[in-house]
This record gives sequence, structure tokens and C-alpha cells, in this order.
Amino acid sequence: MNAINPATNEIVKNYIEHTSKEVDEKINATHEAFLNWKDVSFKERSKLLKKTAKVLLQRKQELAELMALEMGKPLKQGIAEIEKCASVCEYYAENAAVFLQSEEVKTEASKSYVTFNPIGVVLAVMPWNFPFWQVFRFLAPALMAGNTGVLKHASNVPGCAMAIDALIRESGFPENVFQTLLIGSKEVDAVIEHQHIKAVTLTGSTQAGKKVAAKAGSLIKKTVLELGGSDAYIILEDADLQKAVEICVASRLINSGQSCISAKRFIVVQSIADKFIEQFKALMAAKKIGNPFETFTDIGPLARVDLRDELHDQVKRSVAAGAKCLLGGEIPDQPGAYYPPTILINIKKGNPAYEEEFFGPVASIITAKDEQEAIFIANDNSFGLGAAVFTEDKIRAEQIASELLEAGACFVNSLVKSDPRLPFGGIKESGYGRELGLYGIKEFVNIKTVFIF
Ligand code: NAP
Repeated sequence: MNAINPATNEIVKNYIEHTSKEVDEKINATHEAFLNWKDVSFKERSKLLKKTAKVLLQRKQELAELMALEMGKPLKQGIAEIEKCASVCEYYAENAAVFLQSEEVKTEASKSYVTFNPIGVVLAVMPWNFPFWQVFRFLAPALMAGNTGVLKHASNVPGCAMAIDALIRESGFPENVFQTLLIGSKEVDAVIEHQHIKAVTLTGSTQAGKKVAAKAGSLIKKTVLELGGSDAYIILEDADLQKAVEICVASRLINSGQSCISAKRFIVVQSIADKFIEQFKALMAAKKIGNPFETFTDIGPLARVDLRDELHDQVKRSVAAGAKCLLGGEIPDQPGAYYPPTILINIKKGNPAYEEEFFGPVASIITAKDEQEAIFIANDNSFGLGAAVFTEDKIRAEQIASELLEAGACFVNSLVKSDPRLPFGGIKESGYGRELGLYGIKEFVNIKTVFIF
């Protein structure tokens, strides 16, 4: 398993994959660790997770450099990611005991209540785009709930996967409560089959989610799926246009365009479309693309050359189907997986830019005749992760966000973002189940009824 620097295409380091025997031993050991960990007090778990937050903050520069090397994330964004990992550790260290307190329910019994018991070893299948954040948003609540975990990380970030393994040990957690399995995706089925794997959480593409959920479903093992998205941002005629443009561009370019909750489709009402497009183009064109280690870089290389080529193919297919490329759209003549900020307009239903997820710095701008048509277009998509609406009319905005848009998170005059305090997840082909907040920690527990007559 090679870690390859996407800025240069050079091999950073080779990692030896774990054999099936090693994987079996690791899962058994993580199960053994669970048998003790489930009885450790919330106070002790919390102390250890707070230590993890400290270690993360102490090492944020070094961990950000590792991400920059393995998947091209600009350094300042990598540092922010590690800080966010520390915040989710702090959040669950502070709140898990309250979230998982038993709940009394009045019945004819002398005592009846609900407890939230840990279930055992959870398998996490994770993507490369936020190599630390995606893992910690699963791991912090899992450990606080008394579960243990094994990680199958994306094959292009083995160094990040091993760094998380080491961080947990360094924080003083008991041996084997969390372990990384260095394996490819072909080995995942066998891991799901293992008797000690009790549930699976996957963050990644819809295609991978379907395969993993089918396998887990055949064994009656619960899954949480955080999958792709093609978030629509609706810009209405009374929006603060300059603010809306700034937020739309910032969202589209999060992590060089490789975020599940990046805005991907911009649905603009006809009357302001020309102005929006002009300002949007100027801001996209001003972004600095370059070496992720440089402080001025806004957009680094994409994570892998094959992913960049796939994105370029989507752009070419969109143009062939009638879209107009207003900016970018050409692979730069330089080494590395770079792709420029790109804008597509004149997009009709059936066009790849209307239907598919574009995982890179490519914005699809779609014009709608009015608000009603804009909402229809936003929902006319197989994904349902996030959505946003921009208007100065807060009452109208709230109704659109809370009732009319089909997504797991709808924001008003803001970019869609995850927050440890709020549940995160999608509907439709963006997945099911929730991470973060109160709901996230309750996904992998036995919600047990106790009835004492
Ligand atoms: P991916 O190709 O689906 O990979 C994600 C993980 O799944 C990797 O560990 C991968 O392993 C594994 N995997 C792939 N195919 C598999 C299979 N058939 N069986 C078992 N495991 C399999 O996705 P990606 O390219 O890394 O990430 C981009 C996608 O993730 C986008 O669609 C994005 O929107 C989505 N995403 C969603 C969220 C969310 O919270 N909803 C967050 C981030 C990303 P290998 O690397 O070894 O193939």
C-alpha cells in the first residue's frame, strides 16, 4: 500500500498490508479490550479523551503536514481539521455521560426505564478527504459509549491511519480499544463477517455504501452510512448578493472542492443570474492554486490523479451534453493531480452537472425562473445531504429550509457545515443514520428496556 504525494506523484512511503491472520488477531484483541472497556466509568473515559484532544493540539502542525503529503490538503486547512478533531473529543468527553443516562419511563411496573449499553467492536470504513475528522467524529462518541473500534481507512492515507492508531495509544487508552487495519476494500467483506464485528459505519461514496450495507444487512449487522452529496444552494432575488457569492465560492472550494457538503449546484433565480455569475466567476478566478505546503494556497492538488481524471471526464461529458464552461475546465500542464476552479453554466436536466456529484473545484450554475422552480431543481436529485438558501426574508427562508428542501441539513444565509453539537447525515442516496450530537452517540448502543414488575 503506497502513500503517494498528489502534488508530485512521488511515493512518500510504502506500508505493508496486514494479512488476514493479523486482521483476525487484531479484531479478537479489540473484542477482548471491549470486555473491560465497557465497564470503565464515564469519568475515566472522559479523562482519556480529553488527553487525546491535548495530544491532537500539540501535534497539529505535524499531522497537517502528513495530510498535505498524502492527500494534498493545504496546510492551514489541515491545522483547522486537527483543531476540530480536538473539539469533538472535548465535546463528547463533556457530554456523553448525560446523553447516555438511563431514562425512566412510567408504566404499570414498579420500575421501568431505558438504558444505552455498548454493543462491542464497530468497524469504521473511512474516506481520505478529511482523514482525521471523519475518523474522530466516529471514534469520540464510540469510545465514550463504551464501544471499541477498528478502522479500515482509505488506501491512499495509510500514514494518517497509523497516526490515529498511535495517537489513541499515546493518550493512555487501554491497549487495543482502537486499532487500524491496513487492508484494501476487497478485504472488507471478511471483516464484516467476523463474529466480533457488531456494526459498521461507512463514510464514502454511495457505491461503496451500497456494497458494505448489503453485506452487513445480510448478516443483520447495523450500518450508518455517510455518503456522497450534491448540495444545492438556492440564491433568491432578494439575497445579499456579495455575501451569497462569497459563501458559495468558499463552500464550493472547501478542501479543494473535495467535501461531501461542499455546495455543488448553485440554483439562481433568473432575475439575478447574470450578476451572480459575474461575481462568482471573479472570485473563483482569484483563488490561488498551488503547493499545499505554501501558506497562500487556497486550492491544493486533488487527492489522486485518477480522481482528477474522473472529474475532468465529468466536465467533458457535461460540455458535450450542452453545458458551457465559463472558467477552467483544462488539466494544467504540470505534474501532480491539479485541477483549476471551473464553472459550468447552461445546465439542463439529464446533464452530468445536473445529476452527478462533482468531487473537485467545479461549480454547476443552474438558472431557475422563480423560487418554486429553484426548490424543485434542488430536490430533483438522487442525493440529500445538505442544502442552503440565500434571501433577506428570514420567514420565507425558514419555511424553505425546514419544510421544503429534501436534505439532512438545511442552512439559511450560511454554508452547510458540521458541528459536534448538531446531528449530521443525509437522506436519499446520501445515506442514513446520524453522526455527532445526541443522536450520533445513540446509533451504536443497545437501547434496552428494563421492566421490573
Ligand atoms: P470511496 O471510494 O467510497 O472510499 C471510501 C472508503 O470505502 C475507503 O476506505 C475505501 O477503501 C472503501 N471502499 C471503497 N469501495 C469499497 C467496497 N466495495 N467495499 C468496501 N469498502 C470500500 O470514497 P472516497 O473516494 O474515498 O470519498 C469520496 C466520497 O465520500 C464522496 O462521494 C463524498 O461525498 C463521500 N463523503 C461523504 C461524507 C459524509 O459525511 N456524508 C464525508 C466525506 C466523504 P479503498 O480506499 O481501499 O478503496
